[in-house]
Amino acid sequence: MKIAIIGAGFGGMAAAFDLCKAGHQVTIFESSDSVGGLAAGFKEPHWDSYVEKFYHHWFQSDRSILGLIRDLGWEDQVIFHRPYTVLLYNGRWYPFDSILKALEFPGLGYGLDKIRFGFIGLYLRATNNWKNLEKHTADAWMRRWAGANVYEKMWRPLLIGKFGPYYADVNMAWMWARLKARSTRLGTFEGGFQRFADKFALRLRAMGVEIRLQARVKFIKQSGDRGLLVDAGEIDSYDRVLVTTSPNLLAKMAPDLPVNYLQGLLDLKSMGAVVMVMSLKRQLSEQGYYWFNLPKDEGYPFLALVEHTNFVAPEKFGGDHIVYAGDYLEQGHEYFSLSDEELMQRFTPAFKKFNPAFSPDWVKKFWVFKTSYAQPVPLVDHSRNIPAIATPIQGLYFASMSQVYPWDRGTNFAVEIGRRAAALMLA
Ligand SMILES: Cc1cc2nc3c(=O)[nH]c(=O)nc-3n(C[C@H](O)[C@H](O)[C@H](O)COP(=O)(O)OP(=O)(O)OC[C@H]3O[C@@H](n4cnc5c(N)ncnc54)[C@H](O)[C@@H]3O)c2cc1C
Repeated sequence: MKIAIIGAGFGGMAAAFDLCKAGHQVTIFESSDSVGGLAAGFKEPHWDSYVEKFYHHWFQSDRSILGLIRDLGWEDQVIFHRPYTVLLYNGRWYPFDSILKALEFPGLGYGLDKIRFGFIGLYLRATNNWKNLEKHTADAWMRRWAGANVYEKMWRPLLIGKFGPYYADVNMAWMWARLKARSTRLGTFEGGFQRFADKFALRLRAMGVEIRLQARVKFIKQSGDRGLLVDAGEIDSYDRVLVTTSPNLLAKMAPDLPVNYLQGLLDLKSMGAVVMVMSLKRQLSEQGYYWFNLPKDEGYPFLALVEHTNFVAPEKFGGDHIVYAGDYLEQGHEYFSLSDEELMQRFTPAFKKFNPAFSPDWVKKFWVFKTSYAQPVPLVDHSRNIPAIATPIQGLYFASMSQVYPWDRGTNFAVEIGRRAAALMLA
């Protein structure tokens, strides 16, 4: 078969791998000038490693991506460390990346709240019954079972940070998936996610996959006897097409999809993200903390501060210290229209809270990355809203982070759904 894949992110490339191995002729169309999609990175000439545009790591439970890397023979290039994740309480930072660490967190006191917190954590790790959990909002479920105090201190800030105006509508299966799939050890690829993506693209090309960069697909149309027409500047026909973009972009590319399916795509809610990456002359968190969870009501201008070089050594970046400040935001939030310099002015005053000695002249260079599609928002009974991988148009398939539910989005699940879509296309 002649197959087109739209998008050279982790999902599209994983699908291409299986389809090409099965003997098909695969072309990937990618609108940007590099592969890697949302997990893509960049590098300065004096860095050995790439930095992801949006902070990325793997969990030990990420079986699909780690399995793919094993299939490719590169498992010796996966590195796992145990960096510190911390949470703010009364002006101090406390480690907070496991149930045990959370139990030591003073914000919950040492009475009933802590016991409830521990039991809820254990229950959610043990149960697989997410179908029941998705019937409740996390807001109502946590208030009832964890108690108002634990919910207000631990879980509500997390929900607000991730989902902004939708926080009270997100279902409890999202919270379950988050707790279920996490590990305290975090992983990356030697040289960064972009190094992996580039190596993978090289392997795919060697296998015979054609990867066309800067090739934006404008439309996909059914054409009777000729299968599906794909227009990326020039029009060509394919037996099968797999789209791996956001639901919105699929709706634009294939407006001939039946109204029900189209409306389903357009009704899905999601959050965008704005992330600033800085290279600093000095280490920001001298305690060596990697990930700071910041409650929105503490007045920080961003949700997470991530010091990447407290995870991957600064020597990989020519001695530069790499820091991310980022936030998940609803479309139309003012951060999407601020210039990079304006955003810098908003963000920098907060850095003194992580290190009182911080001064703006520590910043050697900074970059800002924005995406309107960063995080699907799963509402109550969300499993009913997941678009089918095989669309109603014969030969047209769709595999994106909007469909990895009940799991939260991630490169692991992009690989999983990409390979699942490939298997369906071959069936
Ligand atoms: C802030 C942030 C933090 C994250 N943190 C992590 C993390 O720690 N760990 C983790 O594993 N994952 C993380 N993720 C999620 C991860 O990046 C995604 O789940 C994954 O990369 C999605 O892969 P994909 O192939 O499904 O889609 P994408 O990566 O979105 O790939 C789709 C591709 O399609 C291309 N495209 C779009 N329109 C067209 C068109 N018309 N024609 C041709 N090409 C087109 C795009 O350029 C893109 O390359 C994070 C994401 C964000 C935003």
